[in-house]
Amino acid sequence: MQIGFIGLGSMGSAMALNLVKAGHDVRAWNRSKVAQDSVPGVTLVELPADAFDADAVFTMLSDDPAIREVILDAGLLASARPGLTHIVTSTISVTFARDLERLHEEAGLGYVSAPVLGRPNVAARGQLNILAAGKAEAVAAIEPLLALLSKKVWKLGEDPARANAAKLACNMMIAMAIEAMAEGIVLTESVGLDRADFFELILATLFSGRAYESYSAQIAERSFEPGFKARLALKDMRLATAAGNAIGRTLPMLEAVREGLGKAVSAGLGEKDWSIIAEMTVRGGSVASLETTTEKTQ
Ligand code: NAP
Repeated sequence: MQIGFIGLGSMGSAMALNLVKAGHDVRAWNRSKVAQDSVPGVTLVELPADAFDADAVFTMLSDDPAIREVILDAGLLASARPGLTHIVTSTISVTFARDLERLHEEAGLGYVSAPVLGRPNVAARGQLNILAAGKAEAVAAIEPLLALLSKKVWKLGEDPARANAAKLACNMMIAMAIEAMAEGIVLTESVGLDRADFFELILATLFSGRAYESYSAQIAERSFEPGFKARLALKDMRLATAAGNAIGRTLPMLEAVREGLGKAVSAGLGEKDWSIIAEMTVRGGSVASLETTTEKTQ
């Protein structure tokens, strides 16, 4: 099968490589130059339109504006290969997902929202959890491809917004878990309990979930290399806020983690892992000297 791929960032490059390893012909485009030896077997193409000349195309760009600019503004839906199915694996807004489905339908193309759970190392192992939603025939056409990238494909129905809302809710809840662990540390370190010992206690008793396991390790080691960049996490908290506002709701814990991420990004820490907000909370909300600390971890 001929597959296009748009966006060879941390996630996209790992995913494109897994498609190649499964024997697919993958033509990929990235805005900035990508070294061929970092994506062996992937055919690097000059134009995004070249990636849309395929049976299916994946998009793993950062956000809504990037997809709008690279795909919609450039008119790629009009020039795409007939019958193509477009799989958007980026974390995007609920409203944009619905717009995308409508625009693809008007252009006679298939559209599937397929945001993913899992960081670049998980993507590299082909062990993502993929949240897929779209018209049944469109999902069926590309499900074998999703299976190559994932531990499980969660089919969430025909409205693509379901997959995007579920993804935003998951990220919102991870940010809340990071913040919850940080606030736990504030209390326990104040009486001399080491954070690693506190984490051992909570993981073995009350909080044994994946988010707690994964992020407690990073927080304990004060390791803030991404992973998932704070600037992208801020984007997701803004999208979750917008989804709440659209139904007339303000979510108080979401407000708190969005503000924390906003502060981190404003302080120039947007390229660090989003768990950096835990260290800020432990330090009483201060970002002072965090730059120096994080440089030591590189
Ligand atoms: P990343 O490493 O920053 O890669 C972003 C990609 O988008 C790069 O290919 C970048 O191109 C491209 N891009 C951004 N703006 C663009 C524009 N205006 N025009 C053209 N290309 C543009 O990000 P990532 O971690 O792979 O994340 C990608 C998506 O996956 C995001 O929606 C993120 O929320 C989601 N996600 C990430 C993770 C994670 O743990 N990292 C997990 C699940 C989901 P350049 O190389 O030229 O900058």
